[in-house]
Amino acid sequence: MADMNKYVNNVLEMVVSRDPEQKEFHNAVREVLTSIIPVLESDPKYYNAKILERLVEPERIVIFRVPWEDDKGELHINRGYRVQANSAIGPYKGGLRFHPTVTLSILKFLAFEQIFKNALTGLPIGGGKGGSDFDPKGKSDKEVMRFCQSFMTELQRHIGLNTDVPAGDIGVGGREIGYLFGQYKRLRNANDAGVLTGKGLTYGGSLVRTEATGYGLLYLVKEMLDDNNIDIKGKTIAVSGSGNVAIYAIQKAQELGAKVVTCSDSNGYIYDPSGIDLALVKDIKEVRRARIQEYITHHPHAEYHEDPFSEWNVKCDIALPCATQNELDLASAAALVKNGVIAVAEGANMPSSLEAIQYFQEHGVLFIQAKAANAGGVAVSALEMCQNSARLEWDFEAVDQKLKNIMTSIYHQAKTNAKKYGVEGDLVAGANITAFLKVADAMIAQGNY
Ligand code: GLU
Repeated sequence: MADMNKYVNNVLEMVVSRDPEQKEFHNAVREVLTSIIPVLESDPKYYNAKILERLVEPERIVIFRVPWEDDKGELHINRGYRVQANSAIGPYKGGLRFHPTVTLSILKFLAFEQIFKNALTGLPIGGGKGGSDFDPKGKSDKEVMRFCQSFMTELQRHIGLNTDVPAGDIGVGGREIGYLFGQYKRLRNANDAGVLTGKGLTYGGSLVRTEATGYGLLYLVKEMLDDNNIDIKGKTIAVSGSGNVAIYAIQKAQELGAKVVTCSDSNGYIYDPSGIDLALVKDIKEVRRARIQEYITHHPHAEYHEDPFSEWNVKCDIALPCATQNELDLASAAALVKNGVIAVAEGANMPSSLEAIQYFQEHGVLFIQAKAANAGGVAVSALEMCQNSARLEWDFEAVDQKLKNIMTSIYHQAKTNAKKYGVEGDLVAGANITAFLKVADAMIAQGNY
């Protein structure tokens, strides 16, 4: 059999030379490919079917113009994208991100991650991602509505409840999903509820979807700690971010008896040694869409630091990066380890650099990466699709219990497969291997495409 280290290196080189500027995409590909070598060595069929070369090339990418008018009547033009990465196990599924940092590289990395994340949920969903460089910050509701309508006017011809099912991500929450769904319905004259997830509860949304990513993160962390005979109760947790993922991670962590001492936004972070006041964070970020700095005007005993990245110098037992990609580098990892961190789990997509992950693993930190740890969001999206297809609604407890089962099963499958493929204790490899096996076997079964 060919040398699989060489095969992986060749594919990585090909990916880099094809799109040299797509750094985020290269990192995401490198993380997965280097960790699945034991699977490639176990059976030549993956090599023979050129599975890696196929996985790193999205099935389809659409890029389109999004013109919209601001409240003064001035016309603006943004760029819209949808990356349809892989449909081997189900319709493309993944969020839409509206943020000025959105590029094709970012969306290709997110769509690539989504292939494996979605496979880990155990539900029949393929991988995709989309979005725009539009910045919803500072825009009126009407401007956001006009943008969403224009975005969907083009996107609607590329999606469908059995084709591609978008949802939210950074900058796309309940408000945006509502506007997008309204426009889809209007243009298609079809109440295809399952074409978007994260919908409002009055028109086909699922209970627990809002909480799902943050809750799921904590369910997995608790399972990982329990399995290592560590009690989450009384632990100090550092959370970054103050968006949807962070808010519900903080809520569940507090419910489980841990103390969360930090949260942040892109301007800076709050350190509150007496425990984050979540009701206040929700009011600042969700109701008034203001800056996290306001926290200290209500709680003068707390500290505000202007550099959000220095947050990882805080002493904590558990770190949960829940803000965005590349927020935790090697120096941050070293600071966390020096301060005695026991466990790190990623709520955001790819927040830790590859060097940081390696550092955690070499220093005995329990580490689990985003595509496993934050799969709760998309898992409940798939449960929303189920309810839409069946035209019924499950109660909160039913969805919450399913979410809990999915997250604990992701942890155990990652652990079992790491052991089976000779990398015991490496949950990153274990999760990647679990997901790869499912997607690759489905691709092979469906022939050369
Ligand atoms: N944007 C979320 C993620 O990164 C959720 C995607 C979805 O629900 O489709 O997984």
